[in-house]
Amino acid sequence: MIEPLYFDNASTTPMLPEVIDTMSEVMYHHYGNPSSIHSKGRKAKAIIEQSRKSIAEKLNCSVGEIFFTSSATESNNTLIRSVVKTFQIKRIITTKAEHPCVINTILELSDVEVIYLDLNHDGAIELDTLNALLKKSDEKTLISLMYVNNEIGNIHPVQEIAQLAKQYHAYYHCDAVQAVGKIPIDLQKTPIHFLSASAHKFHGPKGVGFMYIGGEYNIDSLLKGGSQERNMRAGTENIYGIVGMTRALTLAHEQMEIRMSHIQHLKQYFIKNLIEHFENIHINGGTITTAAHIASISFPYTDKVDLLMFNLDINGVCSSAGSACSSGVEHDSPVLEAIGHDSKRKTIRFSFSHINTIEEVDKLLSILHKLSPLKTAAQV
Ligand code: PLP
Repeated sequence: MIEPLYFDNASTTPMLPEVIDTMSEVMYHHYGNPSSIHSKGRKAKAIIEQSRKSIAEKLNCSVGEIFFTSSATESNNTLIRSVVKTFQIKRIITTKAEHPCVINTILELSDVEVIYLDLNHDGAIELDTLNALLKKSDEKTLISLMYVNNEIGNIHPVQEIAQLAKQYHAYYHCDAVQAVGKIPIDLQKTPIHFLSASAHKFHGPKGVGFMYIGGEYNIDSLLKGGSQERNMRAGTENIYGIVGMTRALTLAHEQMEIRMSHIQHLKQYFIKNLIEHFENIHINGGTITTAAHIASISFPYTDKVDLLMFNLDINGVCSSAGSACSSGVEHDSPVLEAIGHDSKRKTIRFSFSHINTIEEVDKLLSILHKLSPLKTAAQV
């Protein structure tokens, strides 16, 4: 069977062999429960603490500020709910383009005013608006704004947001799932208070993530049970996942520059060729402050474009749609709606990893030509 062309790396990434090897070693030999006091337990505990140290070093924070979870979904749920409860937050400032695990968590909160910042066509917020909102009221406020948008790839000005949060004594929670392992993050220089990440987005295993909780903030836990993770996250630790995530993040940091320049090259090559050969294509999120790994392409409507996702899949291309079907009617995703995307057009997200090659991008381009979703420039 021919392996599909995988361009859905913002959704998940393949695990690297080194990561699988590291995990297998722990699976075979270090199966003790980290809470047990015997030698097997102590060894498992030591492995977890070594992993925590390694992750803290990558983000330039303290070991005690990293907590392992099952996913970014769990991290975001914990952080938002616990920060609101512990600090009696009365106001949350966010956007409608956050991941559903943030949006839906916020929607469930009661007695909290939720303010959605407007986004421009490229998904950018207006810092002046954020400044004015923070200035206007001294109510206890949580800002929840992601680092990189998972659908269109725009990068928010995290440093400036963190400074505003500091200036106005607001709390800043940042869903950094699409940034960790791709963009250097230094938590000493960027005073984010709470951050979340998920291992499978940087070639680690699924079902494991972490959260960063700034040392000054003693928040309540979400899951109740044993005293694991210093009472912040009950439940026996996923030691295999934790070592796999740590190995994956270590490789991502060691190779960040080389990986990211390769990925940037793939994306630029792809977009340049698309623009040259197809009329009226729009790059969602703009082309300047977008993450290297995400290319969200908005195609003008034609009959063929309607079936493009489906036909790409039949032709062995894995990509991701920017729309969802409910009750038989196709809708733009909330992110595309939030940036005012024309719903008659069709958006497809192609997302890259360092494993992709130029040859694969060439194959993708030739499949797109074959499917001819649009008139080529020559035909017009
Ligand atoms: N936040 C963002 C920006 C994401 O892209 C994702 C996954 O797509 C998540 C949160 C949730 O991650 P997980 O499904 O690993 O919990």
